[in-house]
Amino acid sequence: MNLLNKIVNTKKEELINLRRKFHKHPERGWLELYTTVEIIKYLDNLAYDLKYGKQILKESSRQGLPTDSEFKEASKRAYKWGADPELLDEIKDGYTGVVATIKSNKPGPTTALRFDIDAIGAREDCSDKHRPMRENFSSINPHAVHSCGHDGHIAIGLGLAKCVKELFVQNKLRGKVIFIFQPAEEGVRGARAMADTDILETVDYFLSGHIGFKSDTTGQIICGITNSLYTKKLDISIQGKSSHAGAAPQEGQNALLAAVNAVSALYSLTQHGSGMSRLNVGRLKAGTYRNLVPENAEIEMEIRGENDEVISYLFKKVKDVFKGIEDMFNVSVKMEIVGEASAVKSDQKLIDIVKGSAKNVKDIKHIIKEDRLGGSEDVSLLMEKVQNQGGQACYLMFGSDIKAGHHSSNFDFDEKVLSTAVQLYLESLKSLGNINL
Ligand SMILES: [Zn+2]
Repeated sequence: MNLLNKIVNTKKEELINLRRKFHKHPERGWLELYTTVEIIKYLDNLAYDLKYGKQILKESSRQGLPTDSEFKEASKRAYKWGADPELLDEIKDGYTGVVATIKSNKPGPTTALRFDIDAIGAREDCSDKHRPMRENFSSINPHAVHSCGHDGHIAIGLGLAKCVKELFVQNKLRGKVIFIFQPAEEGVRGARAMADTDILETVDYFLSGHIGFKSDTTGQIICGITNSLYTKKLDISIQGKSSHAGAAPQEGQNALLAAVNAVSALYSLTQHGSGMSRLNVGRLKAGTYRNLVPENAEIEMEIRGENDEVISYLFKKVKDVFKGIEDMFNVSVKMEIVGEASAVKSDQKLIDIVKGSAKNVKDIKHIIKEDRLGGSEDVSLLMEKVQNQGGQACYLMFGSDIKAGHHSSNFDFDEKVLSTAVQLYLESLKSLGNINL
């Protein structure tokens, strides 16, 4: 058994306990207050150099923020759960997430590792068939559940940070390792605000990964995701003017009519020939009463595309549609980007390094070199930033048996994946030159 193996073996139980603690206390994107405070406390004990709050998030780049009442409710909840009030005060109102750095005095690369920390806004299955319920670690927040596995990602990040600290104490660390705990991945909202700061400026290598998803068998690993879809999530509000529908319809500005015309125009858009694209209007809400010309309408929609050209073209056409309906129906339109991601494109060199490292991890039985991601992931924005500076990035999948699909109320994963992932990260850090045994 090699040293990395030994170090991870002593953390197996703690990894499961950490996962279960965060599973029990899930919080949605930008509301991860208890979560952030607990991460800070854990890493502070390990004497990591910590940054959080406005140091790691560009205020104006935060997308899809919750409402004021949701912020207040989340603060109260985190306080009730025992989160440190002083720390809470620094991060409330949507400044969640943590960046922790450890630096050796020996030369070596700077490697960043990213872990997403948010939960899904839904209720958890409360039947006895569901293991978190049976084993008493199910969600105590009726508005959220860790049904995507990010509770596992937090545990992996913290456990790994502990292992890296041990190697540092043993004088085996080289260069710098940066742990990024990112808020609000769901809805692809959180990465933009982190990418727009300087936290990734000196990064040579960037690694991140997801439990399950395309790899739903324990012991399997996908070394690099090589493609995913560009996406933009848009909220549109249309403001018109109400009037009596029988007596004075000519005085109204019909927002509902404008909205339905916009929707049919959106679905009629000419598509770009250089790649596939998708458009969906997922929600339309308009009007107030039967006999009033509707004065407002709200649309929630998204677009996706295979490449930059396709998504830029489609986004321009969407804006053209709303410009058109402003003139046609004499309404005013406000559009907000509430989430976005570019394509996840792992570097081949780094995929090969992860693949070579995976061979040293005993629990990995089946290595898949690369695959495509069916959906979108805002890790792409962080990867793109590193790649544009000349660094390399890779996004991988940690195989795990899955009880139900991601985001289902009875989602659960095989906790064996936690130690496997930590070990693979350690082996990769060794291959990259951050760990010298
Ligand atoms: Zn996820």
